Amino acid sequence: MTTILEQETLTRSKQLLQRAKGCIPGGVNSPVRAYKSVAGTPRFIHSGEGAYVIDEDGRRYIDYVGSWGPMILGHAHPAVVRAVQEASARSLSFGAPCELEVIMAEKICRLIPSIEKVRMVNSGTEATMTAIRLARGFTGRDKIVKFEGCYHGHADCLLVKAGSGALTFGTPSSPGVPAASVADTLTATYNDLDSVAALFEEQGQDIAAIIVEPIPGNMSMLLPAPSFIEGLRNICDEYNSLLIFDEVMTGFRVSPTGFQGLSDVRPDLTTLGKVIGGGMPVGAFGGRTDIMDHLSPEGPVYQAGTLSGNPIAMAAGLATLRELEKPGCYDRLRAMTEQLIEGVLARAASFGIAFQANYLCGMFGFFFTNEAEITRYAQVMSCNSAQFNPFFHAMLGAGTYLAPSAFEAGFVSMAHGPAEINQTLLACEQAFSYLTKL
Ligand SMILES: *Cc1c(COP(=O)(O)O)cnc(C)c1O
Repeated sequence: MTTILEQETLTRSKQLLQRAKGCIPGGVNSPVRAYKSVAGTPRFIHSGEGAYVIDEDGRRYIDYVGSWGPMILGHAHPAVVRAVQEASARSLSFGAPCELEVIMAEKICRLIPSIEKVRMVNSGTEATMTAIRLARGFTGRDKIVKFEGCYHGHADCLLVKAGSGALTFGTPSSPGVPAASVADTLTATYNDLDSVAALFEEQGQDIAAIIVEPIPGNMSMLLPAPSFIEGLRNICDEYNSLLIFDEVMTGFRVSPTGFQGLSDVRPDLTTLGKVIGGGMPVGAFGGRTDIMDHLSPEGPVYQAGTLSGNPIAMAAGLATLRELEKPGCYDRLRAMTEQLIEGVLARAASFGIAFQANYLCGMFGFFFTNEAEITRYAQVMSCNSAQFNPFFHAMLGAGTYLAPSAFEAGFVSMAHGPAEINQTLLACEQAFSYLTKL
């Protein structure tokens, strides 16, 4: 769908997409970039600076994608660029241990109390995949519980959304995933403790772990109901199963330590990614020493990586984390996010648009809905996606780059200030006004 607001002069992006389609499936290296659900031409990005990205046709956008989370400092932050330049002059990779890995591991262990030991990998997918393998190896059990609508990367055993609710085996959500790979993946409903309890009553002795995004950010964005996460902890304790927090998205974003800075509940294992790489391909998983020491070479559970702990990735991540330790930066990020989202909600209300939002520090989700509160996957799925698409294109046309899907969270960076927030709210007024005329 091309709206009247879609700009027609995307010459370079159109040409590049054409070329890309000839040699890359769908023209993209990750599916949501293709704009399939919103249609139109994906912007090929030439560069970024601070809160802005600039496309190949020279258009500037206020960026609320932030590379899907990593760019919490904004683009091309001088400290990160400098760290990468310095590290790369000493070679890009060794495949041998280096000091930067130790500094990174010490920092993660110091910042996140539940992490006593940590291992670096190259993506969030690797982190969750290995955390599951480790939980299975440690407990000697095969089954895992995940939540419908939670995304943990694209490893076979986690690629299940299984709409049929508790007590059923998962069915793969992609061809190519053998049924056997997901036969031990059980799915429950986020924010519904009973759905989890029911699975454990039947099969608790066989369940190695629950993996959860404590704040889901892959079905737009949800917030945990009071004591939901605590309830998961109690169930895991009762059955000697492990609790895995997938904080690939929320780590170092929703607070200086992620969800664990907002809650007293401690997981056994945590997966990280996105922000800790500062824009480089990085993931990590860590937790209790007795569990982590089951990993090769200390223990029998195998895991390895040619580029894991890569010095450039460590340098970019460390420079990012160092900036984030500066006093007051999360207070400002929280304030900017609140100003933005409360402003958007007020404008939606003034135009009579049925609209809701969830948000926390640096992260938000929009919903075109009449419902007062969105806490469940089924509610997210029943939102009016017919309104999201024109909204998205109107925002894009007004210079505001949102995720091209109603089911992705949005991200505010430390580089977003009052000027960007105000400009975004003006874009929102145009977009909502446009919706009322459809
Ligand atoms: C992005 C994400 C992943 C996957 O990370 P990749 O680096 O894309 O493999 C896993 N879990 C969550 C919660 C994520 O948001």
